[in-house]
Amino acid sequence: MPGMEAEILSIGSELTSGQTVNTNAAYLARRLREAGFDCPRQAVVADERTLIVQSVREALRRSRLLLITGGLGPTFDDLTMAAIAQATGRRLVLVPAVARRIRAFCRRHQRSLTTPALRQAYLPQGAAALPNPIGSAPGVWLALGGTILVALPGVPQEMRAITEASVLPRLRRRTRRAPIRSRTLRTVGVVELEIQRLLKTVPVPAGMALGLYPNLRAVDVCLTMRGSSSQASRRALRAVERAIRARLGAAVYGLDEQTLESVVGGALVARHKTLAVAESCTGGLVSDRLTNVPGSSRYLLAALVAYHNRAKQEWLGVPGGLLLRDGAVSAPVARAMAQGIRRCAGADVGLAITGIAGPGGGTPAKPVGLVYLAVADARGSAVERFRFQGERAAIKGQAVQMALNLLRKRLLRRR
Ligand code: ATP
Ligand code: MG
Repeated sequence: MPGMEAEILSIGSELTSGQTVNTNAAYLARRLREAGFDCPRQAVVADERTLIVQSVREALRRSRLLLITGGLGPTFDDLTMAAIAQATGRRLVLVPAVARRIRAFCRRHQRSLTTPALRQAYLPQGAAALPNPIGSAPGVWLALGGTILVALPGVPQEMRAITEASVLPRLRRRTRRAPIRSRTLRTVGVVELEIQRLLKTVPVPAGMALGLYPNLRAVDVCLTMRGSSSQASRRALRAVERAIRARLGAAVYGLDEQTLESVVGGALVARHKTLAVAESCTGGLVSDRLTNVPGSSRYLLAALVAYHNRAKQEWLGVPGGLLLRDGAVSAPVARAMAQGIRRCAGADVGLAITGIAGPGGGTPAKPVGLVYLAVADARGSAVERFRFQGERAAIKGQAVQMALNLLRKRLLRRR
C-alpha cells in the first residue's frame, strides 16, 4: 500500500508557462483537507505525453489518492486520458453511456458531433465516469488496488462541479473519517505582526493549528483541526474563535467565505442606506469589488472615476481653489469628493479615494503611496490618511481594502 495519502497533479502547458494561475490545485487541496485528507504534494506538468505518463506512474507508487486536472477535453493537446491508460496499462474502451451523454450535450448546445468530441467517451478499462453537469468531458474514477485515481477536466467550473457532486461524496463514503474542520476569521486593518502579538496568549489545544495569511492589509486567521469526533472539534474551534474575537475585536469583519464587500453590502442593506463612490487613484476597483456582490444594485446608486482635476471640479463640485491650494491628493479634496458624489447621486453615504499610486508623481511632501480616503453621510464626514508601500497595483489594492474598511467602520458606528 502506498505511503502518502493524497496528491494533486495539474496538467497544462498554460500552467507551467505561467499564463494561467493554478487555481484548480488550490481549490482541490482545500476541499481535500476539509474532507480529512492530507495532501502534502502537488505537481504541475506541461501537455507532453511522456511527462504526464511518468508523473502519473510516480504518483501512483507513492499515494493512495491521485487527483488529476486538465487535458480531458477534445482538442489535440488533451492527452491526459491516453497518458493515464498508458501509465496504468489499461486499454481505452468506449463507454456507451458517456457517448450518449456527449451526443445529447452536442444536440443541446447545437454543436455538430465530431470525432474528437466522441473521443471523450473512451475511458481506461474499469473506470467509472463521473457525470459533468456543465460540460461534455466526464470525470474519471479509477480504483487500482490500494490507490484511487481521479481525473477531472481543467475548466475550473466543471472541475468544481464534478468534485462537489461526485468526488467528495465518493471519498467520504470510502473513508468515513472525521473531517478536518476549519474556521477562518477574516480581519482587516491590523498588521500581521500585531495580530501575532495579540494572539500569543490564545490557548490552542493539541491537534489544532493556527495560521496567519496576510494579503493587502487583511489577515486571515485560520484554525484547522482534525478531531476525534466532529462534535468535539467543533466545540474546540468555537472556544478558540471566541478567544481570538475577544482579542481582535472589530478587526474581525467576517468568517470563512465572507468578503469585505459582502459585509459592507449587508450593513448597508440592514440600515436601509444607499451608497455612491468617487474614485481617483483606484480607477474603479472599489466599484468592481462592491458590484461583485449579487444584489449590490439595492444600495450602490452610482460610481464615478474622477481621475482628472476637471472631473473632480465639474462633476463632483470640488472647488478649484481647494485643488490649487491643497492639491488633488489631500484631505480637503478627499472630503469634498465624498460630499460631492453623495450630493450628485442623492445617496445616503458618499465614499471617495484620492492618492498617488506611483511609480511617478511623488514629491517629498506627497510621496508615492500617499492616499486619502473620505466618507460623508448625514452625520458629517471623516477622512483617513495612509502611506502605503509597494508597487502601483499593491498601492491600489491596499487603498481599496482600506476604503471598504472605512465604510464598514462608519456603518458599524453607533449613532
Ligand atoms: P476542455 O474540454 O476545455 O479542453 P480540458 O479538461 O482539456 O477541458 P484544459 O484544456 O486543460 O481542460 O483547460 C481548459 C481551461 O481551463 C483553460 O482555459 C485553462 O486555462 C483552464 N485551466 C486548466 N487547468 C487549470 C488549473 N489548474 N487552474 C486554473 N485554470 C485551469
Ligand atoms: Mg483542453
